[in-house]
Amino acid sequence: MDFKIVERSFFARIARMVLKSGNVAMVLGKQIHLSGVDRETFLRDEGWVAHELCHIRQFQEHGYVRFLWLYLRESMRVGYYNNKYEVEAREAGKKHVRHLAEAKKAAGSVNPSGLPLPADSKKKV
Ligand SMILES: [Zn+2]
Repeated sequence: MDFKIVERSFFARIARMVLKSGNVAMVLGKQIHLSGVDRETFLRDEGWVAHELCHIRQFQEHGYVRFLWLYLRESMRVGYYNNKYEVEAREAGKKHVRHLAEAKKAAGSVNPSGLPLPADSKKKV
């Protein structure tokens, strides 16, 4: 899949401050914006990568502005955790790490942030 990683992203940094989170990956179109986590660490976490790649696919499927709107509307209707775009991305992440060890599975969980944007944070384990 065609994507670009933006390290020390301004947007992800804002999200991180709002969320008071140690690390954030945020998808905007085909770009994965990172803050508090570097490219290597992020890419090593296959479950997290699969989760964010799913958001990139969602952007492509619905169109940039339309997806932001759909994501926001869905979040307002059912909350962030039950947002169907997050559910789908979580499934994609889990599917990807299903072959790995049980401990790694638990570490593969990504928490949707609660921001009205596809921003996700990863608890340090
Ligand atoms: Zn997500």
